[in-house]
Amino acid sequence: MKKAAWLLLGALLAGAIIWRTPVNGPWPLVWLLGMIVMGVIRAPHEKENKQNVIQSSEFNRIEKLLLIAVWLGSAPIPATHLLFGVFPFANTSIPVWVSSIGVLCLVVGLWLFWRSHRDLGRNWSVTLEIREDHNLVDEGVYKRIRHPMYSAIALIFIAQATLINNWFAGYAGLVTFFVMYMIRVPREEEMMRQKFGDAYRTYEQTTGRLIPKL
Ligand code: SAH
Repeated sequence: MKKAAWLLLGALLAGAIIWRTPVNGPWPLVWLLGMIVMGVIRAPHEKENKQNVIQSSEFNRIEKLLLIAVWLGSAPIPATHLLFGVFPFANTSIPVWVSSIGVLCLVVGLWLFWRSHRDLGRNWSVTLEIREDHNLVDEGVYKRIRHPMYSAIALIFIAQATLINNWFAGYAGLVTFFVMYMIRVPREEEMMRQKFGDAYRTYEQTTGRLIPKL
């Protein structure tokens, strides 16, 4: 029932955003489609990983605040702009070539989002956690990049900034994610060093954080 209510709410919001296309132009529809694809990619992993037994967690109040901020920047803030036009001071028109590059970033980002979920499998979690039977993934898209899922999310947020005709709503995802990334990644890597020791240190030497180390 809860799931059906969320689906109904999502469908209503999507319908309203589509209805407002004459005001906002067609690019936000590409953004909306990207959000839906992201949800479809993540949903089965969320369901599967609910069964994980968590050995240790680094979840704290700051992490919670950061997650809420990124969530607000990724969907409610852009949706509020698209539905109600409440940030008129920040309205802008984006050249077609910039939005076209954004679409390319979105496609690559979604592919990487899908691959990193697939490669990380049961080791994935929304917050910083080590599960029972956690293993160090260093293959697939993790072979040359330590944080391909964050690379994917960064690409998707760059796309958001080029597809939403308002700089406040457009950049809200990228800015909040940047703050979260700067605070989270050192903690995540420390957690992985504690768990995997020299194996992770060696892995760090052969990989880049967001960009492949060749
Ligand atoms: N930072 C990674 C993973 C994000 S999900 C990325 O951007 O792709 C966050 C969880 O993934 C962390 O709680 C950690 O337990 C797990 N994790 C991160 N890197 C991992 C790796 N190489 N192998 C296994 N688990 C990993």
